[in-house]
Amino acid sequence: MKEYIDYQLKGNNTFGIPALCDRFIEYAGIDELKDLYARKLFEGKWMSIGCGANLLFCDDYHGVIIHSVARQVEIREENDRNLLVRAEAGLVLDDFIAQAVDNGWGGMENLSAIPCSVGAAPVQNVGAYGVEAKDVVESVLVFDTRDGSARTFTNAECAFGYRNSFFKTHPEYVVVSVDFRLTKKGNWQLRLDYGNLRSALSPQFSESDDALREIREAVCRIRHEKLPDPAVIGSAGSFFKNPVVDCAVVDRLLLDYPKMPFYEMGEGRKIPAGWMIEQSGWKGKRMGNAGVYEKQALVLVNLGGASGKEVWRLAQNIVDSVREKFGVEISPEVIKVSE
Ligand SMILES: Cc1cc2nc3c(=O)[nH]c(=O)nc-3n(C[C@H](O)[C@H](O)[C@H](O)COP(=O)(O)OP(=O)(O)OC[C@H]3O[C@@H](n4cnc5c(N)ncnc54)[C@H](O)[C@@H]3O)c2cc1C
Repeated sequence: MKEYIDYQLKGNNTFGIPALCDRFIEYAGIDELKDLYARKLFEGKWMSIGCGANLLFCDDYHGVIIHSVARQVEIREENDRNLLVRAEAGLVLDDFIAQAVDNGWGGMENLSAIPCSVGAAPVQNVGAYGVEAKDVVESVLVFDTRDGSARTFTNAECAFGYRNSFFKTHPEYVVVSVDFRLTKKGNWQLRLDYGNLRSALSPQFSESDDALREIREAVCRIRHEKLPDPAVIGSAGSFFKNPVVDCAVVDRLLLDYPKMPFYEMGEGRKIPAGWMIEQSGWKGKRMGNAGVYEKQALVLVNLGGASGKEVWRLAQNIVDSVREKFGVEISPEVIKVSE
């Protein structure tokens, strides 16, 4: 276990926002969480972070931040068709996916290149190109910081939703490891019909031994063209969720905006927040050192030296504009960390 006092978090959030935390603790698995419990650490103010890819620090954090550095991968079960693989929370999700693809384990290739830790994947129910964590998570091993016990949540108990899960509103559970059910060749269920994925594959694409690698490479290529690389431009990916509204709201808006895109979502309809932000004139705009990414209006960026408060102010201005123009409320996907 490593502990740092007055730790600078700039390198631990993909926005690259400077903020101090009173104490930063790197721990390596459940035994060290038990030590922290014995030291009564969880009785004070604390939070878990992974890669910090969905966080906006608007103030210094006066508490303890814990960060898993446990990165083991272990096959728990295996048969001719599929296998159950356990990955520890501190592993970078994309490193795990690279390993899965190399081994021919299918199911997660569409999630390639999302900045995320294995621990946060079920919390956020990360998703891309028609696949979400919920499709491959069999169970999640957690540490209950209220009584120091371990517990396993089944997929159903995780209550996965759109970028949401039971854990999102229950931060008292720290994810220790995740068991993923992945498939072997012959049982892969490749999902190629989302967005422009199929057209990014070569015309000769087939379900050959190389299929997972080709999909992974195509996903990485498309993402690279569309999204800022956090190592170059700070961001947290999509800043806002796509709002789901009543069908009547969409019908009303279509009278004024006949080309407005929308998707049926059971009871309601989803409107792409990025489209509304772009229509509101924000794409490529800047406010101080924060801006709206020029290639994708859903992404807010740190143009260099932005503070968390500056990014949040920009976000609020965008929310106000969209409300004024469309009468629709958009809300952040990004988690604001403030006093
Ligand atoms: C360029 C870019 C592109 C992105 N693209 C996508 C995308 O395509 N799809 C998508 O879904 N998201 C995307 N995101 C958002 C981000 O990658 C996800 O939200 C991701 O899950 C964040 O993981 P993290 O490890 O950084 O979690 P953090 O941001 O560190 O934390 C997120 C939440 O998880 C909690 N948490 C973290 N670790 C644990 C743990 N071990 N136990 C319990 N709780 C924990 C935190 O307390 C916090 O509430 C993108 C972000 C960026 C920067």
